Amino acid sequence: RMREALKNRSPDDLRSPVCVVMGHVDTGKTKLLDKIRRTNVQEGEAGGITQQIGATYFPMDNLRNITERLNKDLSIDVKLPGLLVIDTPGHESFANLRHRGSSSANVAVLVVDIMHGLEQQTIESIKMLRAKRVPFVCAINKVDRCYGWQPLPGAPIRESLAQQPENVFSEFETRTQQVITQLMEQGLNAKLYYENKRFKQVVSLVPTSAHTGEGIPDLLMVLLTLTQRLMVEQLMFSPIMEATVLDVKKIEGVGTTVDVLLMNGKLRRGDTIVVAGMNGPIVTQIRALLTPQPAKEMRVKGEFVHHEELRAAMGVKIAAQNLEDAIAGTSMFLLTDDDDEDELKDAVMADVADIMGNVSVTGRGVSVQASTLGSLEALMEFLRTSDIPVASVQIGPVHKKDVSRASIMLEHEKEYACILAFDVKVTREAQEMAEDLGVRIFTADIIYHLFDHFTKYLEECKNERKTEIEADAVFPCVLKIIPEHVFMKRNPLVFGVEVESGIVKVGTPLVVPDKLIPDDANPGQTKMLSLGKIVSIEKDGAPVQTSGRGTKVAVKIQGTSAQSYVTFGRHFDHTNALVSKLTRKSIDLLKENFKNDLQRPDWELVIKLKKVFDIA
Ligand code: GDP
Repeated sequence: RMREALKNRSPDDLRSPVCVVMGHVDTGKTKLLDKIRRTNVQEGEAGGITQQIGATYFPMDNLRNITERLNKDLSIDVKLPGLLVIDTPGHESFANLRHRGSSSANVAVLVVDIMHGLEQQTIESIKMLRAKRVPFVCAINKVDRCYGWQPLPGAPIRESLAQQPENVFSEFETRTQQVITQLMEQGLNAKLYYENKRFKQVVSLVPTSAHTGEGIPDLLMVLLTLTQRLMVEQLMFSPIMEATVLDVKKIEGVGTTVDVLLMNGKLRRGDTIVVAGMNGPIVTQIRALLTPQPAKEMRVKGEFVHHEELRAAMGVKIAAQNLEDAIAGTSMFLLTDDDDEDELKDAVMADVADIMGNVSVTGRGVSVQASTLGSLEALMEFLRTSDIPVASVQIGPVHKKDVSRASIMLEHEKEYACILAFDVKVTREAQEMAEDLGVRIFTADIIYHLFDHFTKYLEECKNERKTEIEADAVFPCVLKIIPEHVFMKRNPLVFGVEVESGIVKVGTPLVVPDKLIPDDANPGQTKMLSLGKIVSIEKDGAPVQTSGRGTKVAVKIQGTSAQSYVTFGRHFDHTNALVSKLTRKSIDLLKENFKNDLQRPDWELVIKLKKVFDIA
């Protein structure tokens, strides 16, 4: 039956392609989507544009109107019913458009800010699109920001470019060329779309302005050309249902619903569906098929329109029992009399197992929590490429038990005692517990920002540790006091010294090895007289951090209150050498972190001082 059904597919019966918008933050993705929507509604009537669940549908008639303003020689014979554009732009939504390892998106718009060129997320987007083999056009947005730009609202871009003054056009050309060069560095050939004859091999660039609407007719036309030329096969309507769960939402009066992207086939009320859940596969019956109420029908009671049957491609909300722990970003299947229920259950959980299974087994690392499987996967990919180990992953809000799990790391690697929470709620109890325990929770609803915050935090941790190490890793030195240069005889001690050997460094604790005093902590024992730590060094009147053998410097030594009685001339004088206080630990830290800062004579001094301090 399935073969029969597939055989009956026809290039005359196509479904709408699904389009997703990608790019770096602030390139104008949202604005562009907005403008496309509004430009097309201008004709007074809504022109058949329908707001669906998570997507906007543009019927072909509407698209034809708007692209009509373009040169006729570019006009194409389009058999597509329309275009379905996903409402939420960005990595996160793309990652959720997963379907059996490939993507549900048929085509993408990659938005680049003409003033900034390729940015970090542009490059990540390119990687994602290539990995899933999704063809894309590149919108070079914000052309109106070229200095002196003369706007021609809503115009095809070539009309607009033709009327720009020479210097404006020249800036436009230079910047576009820069983008082309940067794309080349990513291994992509690109050309302005009207110079591009090879759609398959060469990326089309469409200059746009989301503010003035210039280039938007071009963008839509290129999208349609691309989809029609490249993927008729993929877009043939098939009776076999294919769908992806985009979101799981609780709706007042309806209960928990799943928002799905129906990519192919049909859904009927009463159908049995199989979806992935946090606690295993969910098999349930569709109670209601919903789409949003059209804007002009708002007075009609209820937020949604109920349907008996819906046909792809469509954004649909499904109400059914037992959807509470459904996972967004997974495939949804129909269970018919022909299907093996267990097979479908396994299929639906395969993605989840794939991603959840990708967690370090040592239990060492950060905790990761995301709203959907797709965003979880995108997060995991970032952490993998950044060599950040992950101890646990969750889908859904952060609860106390999650904080408690993350707190285990406090005793092992403090910097990993954190939760990276993407687009999920943190319960108040969890927040309070985290503050009590010292577990950091990073939240953001753009993955990129989450990465940013966490990377910055790791950097801080690293610096902090380095400062700690610096304090503990004592450089070896032997200092000789210059008797004519004693400026302060009591705490803080200040005098001129000659560095007899080793390196004098700020932070170094100093002792007088040949002055032994009673050790209060160990009655009957003695210890070396300790002066305190060097807090500053001056060389030729200027502060320095270190100074090497043979140099003369002034040092300021700060003692604790217990050391403040120590007086030059009474407890020690210029005949006593001052040396750095070394310990086993300080030597180890020195070896691990400052190998290259010390030279052979300095290491020899370490060996000598080891004997002085009786270190094994
Ligand atoms: P997104 O993060 O990619 O969704 O970017 P937004 O759509 O939020 O736009 C980011 C900023 O750029 C906003 O302040 C927009 O008003 C501005 N912007 C977007 N498109 C254009 C454009 O074509 N021209 C100009 N001048 N500004 C734009």
